[in-house]
Amino acid sequence: MKHFVLPTYYDSELISELKEIRTKNEKRTDYSPTKISIGKLNFFIPKYFGFCFGVKNAIEICYKTIQENPQKKIYLISEIIHNPNVNNDLKKKGVKFLQKSNGETIIPWNKVTKNDIVIIPAFGTTKENMSIIQKKGIETKSYDTTCPFVTKVWNRGNDLAKKDYTILIHGKPEHEETKATFSNFKHNTPRIIIKNIKEAKLLSKYILNPNEPDFKKTFKGRFSKKFNPKKDFQKIGVINQTTMLAEETQEISYFFEQIMKKKYGNTHIKNHIANTRDTLCYATNENQTSIKELINLNIDLAFITGGYNSSNTSQLVKICEKYFGTYFISSEKKLISENEIIHFDMKKKIEKIQKNYLPNKKVINFLISGGASCPDSVLERLLEKICKFYNQPINKKKIIKNFLLKY
Ligand code: SF4
Repeated sequence: MKHFVLPTYYDSELISELKEIRTKNEKRTDYSPTKISIGKLNFFIPKYFGFCFGVKNAIEICYKTIQENPQKKIYLISEIIHNPNVNNDLKKKGVKFLQKSNGETIIPWNKVTKNDIVIIPAFGTTKENMSIIQKKGIETKSYDTTCPFVTKVWNRGNDLAKKDYTILIHGKPEHEETKATFSNFKHNTPRIIIKNIKEAKLLSKYILNPNEPDFKKTFKGRFSKKFNPKKDFQKIGVINQTTMLAEETQEISYFFEQIMKKKYGNTHIKNHIANTRDTLCYATNENQTSIKELINLNIDLAFITGGYNSSNTSQLVKICEKYFGTYFISSEKKLISENEIIHFDMKKKIEKIQKNYLPNKKVINFLISGGASCPDSVLERLLEKICKFYNQPINKKKIIKNFLLKY
């Protein structure tokens, strides 16, 4: 895989080193977790976590752009990736954000001039934003960090569109990537965004009976111009935001296949639903597969770090929550003390305070991990903080030496 040059403060002495040892010595398909034992504490870390290809690529381009253009104004359309540590560091270095993650304007486009640089985030951006940038005569090629795995989804969508399929996009409607995917069609292909299986079921009513009332009200803001449920559900194809939960994506695809069979029968089903695989990216698949390797271990508590608006991180939290106590935190700083933690409640979308959150046992098994936009250094500081709370000194060199003995 390509080597990226990133600021060294995103790396860590212990966790990055163990990750590298495993990458060099093991098969990519070995999903067993990494175990670090420090006194009475065991830390289990999934094989795959942290910066993915697209995130590294985006970060490398950002820092290179800052370094090479000290005299220029540098804008980012919105967050480069969903990690507050990285975004705040870019802000400190003078990068200005034009929009919030939800698309709200921070700096209006009329402040941006031909001589400025506009960086396109890893999620990509909408055709509308691209057209504004191009009309201003701003060069985009060198500053477009759109992940190739996102572009792949756009290509899949356009290929299906060429064959007259209506596109169902399984994604979070408020997420930058899903907005970009919805927008990046060459023509006005009929398309619609659905968030989850509940919405897939709602949509199926209109597929089975296009005369059902209130389509426009139910899916307001989610469908393309001139969408017509009476003629646009004869051929459908499903594509996904790259960071959805794999099981849910499969459930949705299977569900729509059954609905189309119900409507059109089995014989010509291939003419009515595209036979395609999901469009989740490799990092989403590997991160979810490797965290599932931990569900049968006796984990006492899990900490998952990442931006609260990070889709791939929230999927890891969802998996963990089913099996053990889990805290979703944006960084180690949320562990205020050994008695108090601030964590994110995904359902209520608010931060909450929890007292006495650390287990008190003879041996304690922690799961620690982060989403595809979480630097290794954050995870390492989290491990250090937990050890400090339990008065367990860490000898990193010894841990690495012992770890190497396995190979
Ligand atoms: S999570 Fe996947 S699609 Fe998103 S930036 Fe990483 S590799 Fe690309």
